[in-house]
Amino acid sequence: MSDTFHAIQLSKTDDGQTSAIVDLTENDLMDGDVTVEVSHSTINYKDGLAMTGAAPVVRTWPLVPGIDFVGTVTKSEHGSWKAGDKVVLNGWGVGETHFGGYSQRARVKGDWLVALPDAISPERAMAIGTAGYTSMLCVLGLERQGIKPGDGDIVVTGAAGGVGSVAIALLAKLGYNVIASTGRASEEAYLKNLGASEIIDRNTLSEPGRPMGKERWIGAVDAVGSHTLANVIAQTKYGGAVTACGLAQGMDLPASVAPFILRGVQLIGIDSVMAPLGRRQEAWNRLAQDLDLAKLDAMSETIGLGDVAEVAPKILAGQVRGRVVVDVNA
Ligand code: NDP
Repeated sequence: MSDTFHAIQLSKTDDGQTSAIVDLTENDLMDGDVTVEVSHSTINYKDGLAMTGAAPVVRTWPLVPGIDFVGTVTKSEHGSWKAGDKVVLNGWGVGETHFGGYSQRARVKGDWLVALPDAISPERAMAIGTAGYTSMLCVLGLERQGIKPGDGDIVVTGAAGGVGSVAIALLAKLGYNVIASTGRASEEAYLKNLGASEIIDRNTLSEPGRPMGKERWIGAVDAVGSHTLANVIAQTKYGGAVTACGLAQGMDLPASVAPFILRGVQLIGIDSVMAPLGRRQEAWNRLAQDLDLAKLDAMSETIGLGDVAEVAPKILAGQVRGRVVVDVNA
């Protein structure tokens, strides 16, 4: 293994920030008790924010971005890991305050790592990435509320995005009837192929709505927030549950308490970044069991490290369909 390796490095300048592919050595990496030879990373919405500086995601400069990676342990001083182990990392501030996955090598805390399930290849693990692992956390949230496939439909907002696409595939395989809300009518065939049985125009949910509407679904995976989340809650059936994980429309929640106090609707917050290890292991094991890998492949494309700067703004513009894998050696 050579002493130097390639990584994307973001630097702060008087005019904003710059991004460059640089050669680093392991001496440049941050503290940690496990070193990993990274094979793949991915582009999530938060990576788009970090790469462009559209929101203050990066809080340490200079920084190697990339909130996810998968790879093989090369050195470990942590009791759970030894050289040769295949591991996945999602979140924990990696790619925000700690050097991340847009790099051929990474050094992190062993406590942050999850064993890559045998059924999932490294490339597919990053096709899942934080977006897909968050979708699984949403599905687990609905299951904990006792929502079963026969109870009613599940609406997925931001359907053609990363979280939405994986959520549709997971829910459909588990037997749920899925309604996909999208602004991209042209993606109807794509969404139906993933398992959506009905497509609705996201404009029907994105404007200010009534405190309570007709009861339409028993559950929701919402990646959009703002009026969309408020309208999703307002149209949830008695006793239903809504998982809120994203803010693609906005961070506000202009909602009424009426659905909570008159219909007993549950609003479940989903955080992937600091989720405890047990919840992560459960999510990854369930992804290995419940995600149709052919559908995962159909929603993913792979790019090289040199393409990240060009693709990152597109995810913020809602122009990325499904998931993007980054092969850090390409
Ligand atoms: P993507 O960009 O892949 O997907 C977001 C989708 O939201 C778009 O594809 C689009 O879907 C829809 N959308 C975009 N802009 C708007 C808008 N103005 N109004 C309504 N819908 C819109 O991002 P991800 O799937 O990676 O992430 C989705 C959200 O989830 C982000 O806000 C992200 O920050 C959040 N997230 C949160 C996590 C957590 O831990 N809580 C973890 C991972 C992600 P369409 O074209 O189908 O309409």
